[in-house]
Parts: sequence; structure tokens; C-alpha cells
Amino acid sequence: MKRKIFFTPGPAAIYPGVEQFMQEAFEQQITSISHRSNTFRSIYQDTFEHLKALLSIPEGFAILFTGSATEIWERIMMNCVAESSLHLVNGSFSKRFYQTAQLLHKSAHKVEAPLGEGFEPNKIQVDYKAELIALTHNETSMGVAMPSEDIHSFREAYPNRIIAVDMVSSAPYPNLDFQKVDTAFFSVQKGFGLPAGLGVWIVNEQCLAKAEALENKGLVTGTYHRLTNMWAYFEKFECPCTPNVLGIYLLGRVAKAMLEKGIQKIRKETEEKAKMLYDFFEADERFNLFVKNAKHRSATVVVANTVPPAKEIIEGLSSQGLQIGTGYRAFKAQQIRVANFPAVSLEDVEQLIQALKKC
Ligand SMILES: *Cc1c(COP(=O)(O)O)cnc(C)c1O
Repeated sequence: MKRKIFFTPGPAAIYPGVEQFMQEAFEQQITSISHRSNTFRSIYQDTFEHLKALLSIPEGFAILFTGSATEIWERIMMNCVAESSLHLVNGSFSKRFYQTAQLLHKSAHKVEAPLGEGFEPNKIQVDYKAELIALTHNETSMGVAMPSEDIHSFREAYPNRIIAVDMVSSAPYPNLDFQKVDTAFFSVQKGFGLPAGLGVWIVNEQCLAKAEALENKGLVTGTYHRLTNMWAYFEKFECPCTPNVLGIYLLGRVAKAMLEKGIQKIRKETEEKAKMLYDFFEADERFNLFVKNAKHRSATVVVANTVPPAKEIIEGLSSQGLQIGTGYRAFKAQQIRVANFPAVSLEDVEQLIQALKKC
């Protein structure tokens, strides 16, 4: 069967080499080894070191593994907030982070932007009580991004709050300064081009201290996956429960492959491919761009409104072996989403644009 090229925003195209890495994992029998062995510890350590180098994560941060990014929303709210958090909401993922806080009976506040729009940080007043500010680097449902400088500006304006960044559908693209971010997270089936089933939680000592303070006050921060317990295991490169060893191994291999390619090159190519897509949709009269402000357009998830029914475009591409994403929920009928993750090459994007012309 001829293979499709996936431009879907998650699960997404598989990063080049993953099939080979998976085969090597089975040859090395890593799916049978004990998660309390030196072999596993060195897999965890390698993955940690490669991610640390790839994302320029300084000392004082742990990288912890969960089942998903959705789980990390819950971990952050339980471990880093006693009472109150502030959420910037402009789509369904940022909204679910906010709802997670509500479900845990935190006093959650939100600042909302209309769908398709981003935020101007200097216009946002953070409630004096909010202990944590929840930001979404890339709102996948709407294709709206928050520039890294804008994320950093929150630390400058509010030095004593915990700054949490959802970078699920953009990592490793955003060049975050981790001196200005306390915790960030992603799951692997998006920009890292891996099979789903692993959440990656980057978290600093301030967050750990906060979790300790909450426990000292008698608050429940979780059970096996409470931050204090995860961090204690991380110090010996282990996890509290039997982790997704294959996922952790593959993530380490992909992070290493990305380092070898060069993160600057990956970021530059992401921008080139995004420009090709935006230029095409802007010029073709069957499409218009959903995100009007160029500053807030996502480099990794490109959203276009369609004049013909979106279904026709999606099916036209599918018959040419190319799979793009539908618009999110209410936008399904007249919108398409194209993921521009590192796994899709410049040639893939050229092929997509040629195929779109024929739809
Ligand atoms: C996909 C996504 C999530 C949830 O990721 P899971 O791996 O499904 O838990 C969270 N935030 C954003 C921005 C996403 O795109």
C-alpha cells in the first residue's frame, strides 16, 4: 500500500528514523528489561540529556514522564497551586487547562480572547492572588500562537508567579528561555513525530518547593505521580511506576537526531514551510487565513477557512495520498488545519501545495 503523508496535528507524521529506532529497541530487548535496572536508568538519562540540550534547559530542572499532556495539566494544578490560578484561554486546549483547575476546586480565573485571536500581554492584568499563570504557546484548535518574547514578558511583569507553558503542539520549535518559565510540557505524538502515549513534564525547583509547601499545609498533591515523589525518582533516573520505556527510548533517539540536524535549522525550516503554506492560502481565492494578525499565526499548525466545503478539499487531498486535519469541532465544515511539524519536509509541503492546486 502506498504510504500517506500526514499533515495532521496529532497523531502526526512520524519523524524520519523512528522505524529504525524501534527495530533497534527490540533488538536490544529494551521492552523486557527491568525499569529498576542500570540499562533503563541510562536510557532515561540519555533522553534527559538530549532534551536538555535540544531545548536549552538549564540546571535546576527535572524532566518527568507521564501518560499524556492532559495528565500534566492535572499534575501542575495539584502540585503548583494552593488556591488560585490565571489562564489565558483562546481555544479548546487552553480552556481544558482552565477546566482542569476548576474540577480540582481551585479558584481559576480566565482571560479570554475571541477565537482566532491571540493576546497582548501588556493588556492583561493578573489578579494579585493568582499563584500560577497558565499560557498556551500554540493553541492547536485555532492555529494561534503566543510569541516566546510575550511568554517571557510575564516573568518580567510578575516575577513571583509560577509561569506554566503548554507547548504540546509546537515543541521543539519555540525558543523558550527557561530562566523565565517554571514549567513547560508536551506530548510526543505532535512535533516529535512519535507514537502517542507519553507526556513530558519539564519542571523546576520552584515548582518542587511549591509542592512541598502544599504538602506541609496538608493539601493532597496526588499519589504516585505527585511532584515530590516523581522528582525523588528522577534523581536516580527512575519513575514511580513502570513507565513507557519504549516511548522514553524513542524520544531520546529523536531528540538526538534533531540535535544532529541542528535545532536552529529545524526552527528555520519550520518558518520557511509555514511561510509557503500561509502565502499559498493567502493567494488562492478558495481560501482565507483564519488568524488575521500575522504576529499570532502559528508556525506549526496552519489554519485556513475554505470557500468550498472543507470536506471536498480534504477528500481531494486524501485521494492524492495526503492527509490534512479538519477544522476543530464547530469549524469542521469550513476550515482545514495543516500541521507543519519537523517530520514533514520542505518537499512534502511543496507536494501538498501542488496537490491543493488540483483540488
Ligand atoms: C494535543 C494537545 C494537548 C493534549 O495532549 P494529549 O497528549 O492528548 O494529552 C494539550 N494541549 C495542546 C495545546 C494540545 O495540542
